[in-house]
Amino acid sequence: MIQRRPTRQVAVGDDRVGVVQIGGGKNGTTPAPVSVQSMTAGYTHEIDTCVAEINKLAAAGADIVRVAVPGKNDTQALKEVLPQVRVPIVADVHFHFGRALEAVEAGVHKIRLNPGNISDRKQVEEVIAACKQANGGAGIPIRVGVNEGSIVERKDKQKRLKELGGVFSDNKHGHFLAIMITKLEEYLDIFYDNDFYDITISAKSPDPSLVIAAYTEISKRFDHPLHLGVTHAGPKETGTIRSVVPLGHLLASGVGDTIRISYANDPVYEVEDGLELLYCLGLRKRVGVDLIGCPTCGRIQVDLFTLIQDVREKLKDLVLPIKVAVMGCIVNGPGEAEGADVAIFAGNQRGIIYVQGQKVANVPEAEILDRLMAECLAFEKKVRAGEAKLGEKVVEIAPPDPIGELGSGFDKIAAGQVGSSVTDLTIGKSE
Ligand code: SF4
Repeated sequence: MIQRRPTRQVAVGDDRVGVVQIGGGKNGTTPAPVSVQSMTAGYTHEIDTCVAEINKLAAAGADIVRVAVPGKNDTQALKEVLPQVRVPIVADVHFHFGRALEAVEAGVHKIRLNPGNISDRKQVEEVIAACKQANGGAGIPIRVGVNEGSIVERKDKQKRLKELGGVFSDNKHGHFLAIMITKLEEYLDIFYDNDFYDITISAKSPDPSLVIAAYTEISKRFDHPLHLGVTHAGPKETGTIRSVVPLGHLLASGVGDTIRISYANDPVYEVEDGLELLYCLGLRKRVGVDLIGCPTCGRIQVDLFTLIQDVREKLKDLVLPIKVAVMGCIVNGPGEAEGADVAIFAGNQRGIIYVQGQKVANVPEAEILDRLMAECLAFEKKVRAGEAKLGEKVVEIAPPDPIGELGSGFDKIAAGQVGSSVTDLTIGKSE
């Protein structure tokens, strides 16, 4: 069980779209589940496309969606976008504080500001005042983003050089951390002076070790909820590892209250992978199938890669967290299937299907998918009807007789290397 760092709590949303709490544990609040965010990739002023993208992300499981508002046409469009969506929306503001005011006026649920490009105290105070009055006087929160690429004082390079010089000169992270903490303190003082505490903080970087260092330091100094992310993580193929290593490390340490994984790809992947990360860490209750599958090896006798992708696709709309194991053979199949609600061990162009540990079918390869789906859906129906429970076995899983039904290990048995009963099965585990 991960002990979450206690923070103040902020609420994002309203009665119409629902309210997502972020963080908690202080001031009598209960920590909210870690939420998953994403951002639209298209133009906000292309209203229909924007609405479709937001709804797609919400359907994929995004708790909060951010949109860019670089132009007046974008904040204008928000007035039409917002009534058509059912998820809290954050306006991403850079350079023009007026966009923040317009977004608040349009009814957005949260603002993201960056001290690196909206630093004028009066402008920040205007945005704070508008956010305080928004949402019928209940207020809306602001994320302060001190991301590595944008925190630098762009207008004054000499100032940056001075800041960087001397202190921590032999520590690349030290330079950034010193600037980041200083800027955060300076910036947050404006908010505190205006009695505004509905704040979340982000400190993203493309460097995973810097992300860990930055959020760790911030978590020690500020009690606002933290929005975790690795910025510019690149394509999904490499960005997954780049993102989940630091985010997983921080979350497992109890640091982090809302996350955004960012890929140069369809943002739906960001939501799917963010949720999976939280499920794996036990930070969110799983929604949908929990799919276990073997990587295959020289023992495989069916097209398991295709089978497992087909199973994933066909079960993607399942809501209950049914654990399904798709295993290539009896070697590791029984072990993995032990904790599964529905399992299949394949071999010799056939598959044996188990539900709650009980064998229910032995079918040729061509029929595996359909039968497996039928058993999954029938099991889901039984769970919904209260006739079966997730994770409960009717009987203990017994692997198929290697001589009989699937023929897996037949050669070894013939050579006297393995017994014919389950208990003296001596095939070594390969993984
Ligand atoms: S030994 Fe493991 S990896 Fe190989 S086919 Fe069997 S279950 Fe899959």
